[in-house]
Amino acid sequence: MQLKTILNHVQKFKSFVYGNIVWLDCEDGNPAVLVEIMPRSNSKSICSGCGNPGPGYDTLPPRKFEFVPLWNIAVFFIYALRRVNCSQCGIKVERVPWADGKNTVTKPYMQFLAGWAKKLSWKETALAFHTTWEKVFRSVEWAVEWGLAHRDLSNVQSIGVDEVLWHRGHKYLTVVYQIDSECRRLLWVGKDRTIRTLLLFFRTFGKERSAQLLFVCTDMWKPYLKVIAKKASQAIHVLDRFHIAMHMNKAIDEVRAQESRSLKAKGLEPVLTHSRWCLLKRPENLTDKQEIKIIDLLRYNLKAVRSYLLKEDFQFFWDYFSPHWAGFFLDRWCTRAMRSRIEPMKKVARMLRSHRELLLNWFRARKTISSGVIEGFNNRLKLTTRKSYGFRTFRAAEIALYHTLGSLPEPEWTHKFC
Ligand SMILES: [Zn+2]
Repeated sequence: MQLKTILNHVQKFKSFVYGNIVWLDCEDGNPAVLVEIMPRSNSKSICSGCGNPGPGYDTLPPRKFEFVPLWNIAVFFIYALRRVNCSQCGIKVERVPWADGKNTVTKPYMQFLAGWAKKLSWKETALAFHTTWEKVFRSVEWAVEWGLAHRDLSNVQSIGVDEVLWHRGHKYLTVVYQIDSECRRLLWVGKDRTIRTLLLFFRTFGKERSAQLLFVCTDMWKPYLKVIAKKASQAIHVLDRFHIAMHMNKAIDEVRAQESRSLKAKGLEPVLTHSRWCLLKRPENLTDKQEIKIIDLLRYNLKAVRSYLLKEDFQFFWDYFSPHWAGFFLDRWCTRAMRSRIEPMKKVARMLRSHRELLLNWFRARKTISSGVIEGFNNRLKLTTRKSYGFRTFRAAEIALYHTLGSLPEPEWTHKFC
């Protein structure tokens, strides 16, 4: 069997044929396979500007295109691109099915690398296939751009908006997810977490689609609340349970740290040392050791402990079915928190009070929105950013997130290389 037979099996082109196949000595000392490609006789070249066939103008010097390696041997196509004298676009280089524009890596190889870059980090992918980080990045970028151009956004009913820290220092990204039960994916990534950021999402998403939204789920971040009230006023705006737990935990952390310092200053027994996770975790997630610590802590009338009990009590809020009784519970909880004389907890209570209606929307939407979705995405997102992708730029972070969380469609080829 000849190599040409295999090539025709994995990648056959309508208007082109494979010619000679020879060894090629690469600069790195490793041999590679060079596959000549020629236009099929009588085939007309296609204008890359408009996609119509046109009369030939001239032929450029041959160029190499990197294809999927075979048995760890690099494979290159070599082809002399023709230029077309197009009646609409003037003199243009022809369109070829294996590569885009000026790209010297073929589309199947880019898809191959992008596929592996979902399983490995970009650096690991580059190492595994003897290529560069840059080429892996370009491949993923190409796959993402293709996916974004071909995805279907017609039936988005529920979205979740979240902010994430992504860089050392205080740099934020705004992420928008689709959280419908039949389709969950990342829809959009933007720089910062300002009014402008979210406005930009709604601009890209379009007026018509925004008007179709039924539910929007967010944090209590003011710029988001403002934009959603303006751009998707018809949707039920729900405050996310996961974010409320985060605010609560932040308050407890503050109380505990303050109290721990003042106890130490007074020379009292440092009861609060090693208590941080006991107070932040849900009781069912505590280890045996942490459970003993909590029981021990409960003996003291400490602010941190009282805050912990307030937080645990708030969990009952989510068990209600009727917004009316949930509202009643919320008001009572807030009154208790306000009387606790613990400033961080009072702050939480004030925040919950001022967002009462949005909080109660959770009960109006509870059949549609499951509370764990955003949290799940948040964890997967952290995993993506933690894997070292060399995210020095926003562009790299954006591309990696779309690639791993976007559920983007992929071009269909007759042969799957990975
Ligand atoms: Zn044209």
